[in-house]
Amino acid sequence: MTQDGNIKELKKIAKKIARSKRIEHHGALDLVAQELGHGHWYAAVAAHKNGWQPSPEDIGSVEDLLKQINPYESVEMFGDPGGESEGQIGTHAYKIEVSMDEVIMRGRGWLVHVPEAPSKQPCVRVTDRRYKVNPIHDSDFVAQALEIAKIKAEQVRARIASDWPRRSMKLDDQGRAAHPINGGLSDTWFCLHCDEASSAKAVAANMWHCPSCSASPIDVFSSAWWLDDVPERPKSSA
Ligand SMILES: [Zn+2]
Repeated sequence: MTQDGNIKELKKIAKKIARSKRIEHHGALDLVAQELGHGHWYAAVAAHKNGWQPSPEDIGSVEDLLKQINPYESVEMFGDPGGESEGQIGTHAYKIEVSMDEVIMRGRGWLVHVPEAPSKQPCVRVTDRRYKVNPIHDSDFVAQALEIAKIKAEQVRARIASDWPRRSMKLDDQGRAAHPINGGLSDTWFCLHCDEASSAKAVAANMWHCPSCSASPIDVFSSAWWLDDVPERPKSSA
């Protein structure tokens, strides 16, 4: 039946939203329901039992929501958003591009860089000190530029997360997640750089970068094998 088909379609889109936003499926269902004017998913289900049917327009607006969150979900439909694009903040033109999954936004005399790891702070730089009317000295301008660059970075993270195995972003019932590159399944992950142990939840939320030092996913392991030859712990005195 096409009516039930529409509910199924909403659930399918919610699944993609969950992966893209790295949130639980029920959280994504709530977002979908809210997009359609229901307080949460259970309210939408209750309305459905009372005869409410999502229309093709409803499906369309939920698809738009997904597209906004993760334009990479439907690259063939909307064109590749990964290339360079241009825009303007007030009278100031900028270019924004994605390079190695990092976002670089620049205009005359300034640059904003948003790294892939959510734990890494975006960086704002003056690239031409002689340019006297550089808008980057205006805090409102910086806030607007950061906002645009961060939205782009979230879209890039969404695309990466949806390429990874589902088990990398969603913990199992024992709190374990699978490393998207190195493999292995664990509830605790160790960083080769800073030796820090982090929960699977924290590393997954940080795009598999170390939550403490932002080291890249390839430096995160399920065991601290490099510490194997540390001196033994002092024996408890008899
Ligand atoms: Zn680290």
